[in-house]
Amino acid sequence: MREKDIQYLDKEQLYELQLSRFKRTIERLFTSSPFYSKLWKKSGISPDKIKSLQDIRRFPFTSREDLRRNFPFGLLTLPLEKVVRVHTSTGTTGKPKAIFFSKRDINEAARLIARSMKMTGAKRGDVFQNMMSYGLFTGGLIFHYGAERLGVLVIPAGAGNTERQIELMQDFKTTIVHITPSYALYLADVLEERGVDPKNDLDLRIFYLGAEPYSEETRDKIEKIYGVDAFNSYGLSEMNGPGVAFECKRKDGMHVWEDNFILEIIDPLTGENLPDGEEGELVLSTINREAMPIIRYRTGDITYVYPEKCRCGRTHRRISRIKGRVDDMFIIRGVNVFPSEVERIIMNFPEVARNYQIILERESSLEVMRVKVEIKKRFFDGSIEHLRSLQERIKNKIKSELMVTPKVELIEPGTLPRTTGKSRRVIDNRKL
Ligand code: AMP
Ligand code: ZN
Repeated sequence: MREKDIQYLDKEQLYELQLSRFKRTIERLFTSSPFYSKLWKKSGISPDKIKSLQDIRRFPFTSREDLRRNFPFGLLTLPLEKVVRVHTSTGTTGKPKAIFFSKRDINEAARLIARSMKMTGAKRGDVFQNMMSYGLFTGGLIFHYGAERLGVLVIPAGAGNTERQIELMQDFKTTIVHITPSYALYLADVLEERGVDPKNDLDLRIFYLGAEPYSEETRDKIEKIYGVDAFNSYGLSEMNGPGVAFECKRKDGMHVWEDNFILEIIDPLTGENLPDGEEGELVLSTINREAMPIIRYRTGDITYVYPEKCRCGRTHRRISRIKGRVDDMFIIRGVNVFPSEVERIIMNFPEVARNYQIILERESSLEVMRVKVEIKKRFFDGSIEHLRSLQERIKNKIKSELMVTPKVELIEPGTLPRTTGKSRRVIDNRKL
């Protein structure tokens, strides 16, 4: 089927396509995935009982923990000879989550990116600077392959090195940028310092903003500063990375590519399905993946489905801007961090007392994670050299394990507020 036709299938055709792909995925998993076949047999589910898409509700959820516990190969369903890539997801306790791709999986993921880019007006002749980190993170390579598939000129710039980013934009006359919203704001400050007017001195016309939650106000701000159309791009490593849901030119919710994913919204507490329009946790299933299909994955992301069809005419349903996460995880500079991980790291230092606090701030639009750590009295009153080296060691340990460089403050025991109930470990002072 042609790309364009898939996006405009009528509701019934899209449903039939989903149902047949869903059945095929489940049948394959029953024979090739020890993880799922065991789980499903326990719940009394068999593939021949699937009559409608509603039947997906009988399947148990797959959690982040399932992926971690079965790291690295537990959910892989193909022999290694057929697997060509692995990506991992950041911000995990202990082991990360590994996601495998066959050649076909890479092609299909690229197809979704190419489709999304084209939908927003990208075309051959455009110069695309991918300012997401290349490597294990999907935002670099997955997007890269999609952009090449569309046929734009790709600059694999990666994240960071702001001076060089600016130089690349000027030299190659970049028209499209893929970037996190926080980096876009920081970059704007640096451009201003250099006396470069992003609106008039550069050739930018489209921004893709994703990888972390941000507000409509931030989008507006970025559009005004750069004089571009900025589109919201949503994805997660477990579901290929970017290209799961993307805004069309209407910029009114993100189309979830339903020919590849089955979309559900559940009540995060009860697990019950919620109707369109009601806010809850997004649950996704892959129905077009070979190496590592995942069924009913709890994304942890809070959103709702738009009940009405988009005015652009595409039938794939839209989700709202992600409101935040179900759990207490936070995202800083595009990296996922759980407070419990910070805790685990700092508590390994014998000098550290019991209390700590994480404060998230913005310093000239760059996000900063400040970690206040209470130090045992005798160490706190000890040598200043020792305290300095301790501060440095804590900083480096967090940096190497979580990939975020924190500002570490050592404080006297008893300084932080105490409570007998739940303590507030994270204070988020970042204004979106
Ligand atoms: P990762 O697997 O490391 O790529 O992280 C995926 C997570 O990043 C998602 O589950 C979301 O919480 C967050 N995320 C990605 N894109 C967006 C977006 N456009 N808006 C809000 N959050 C996003
Ligand atoms: Zn639309």
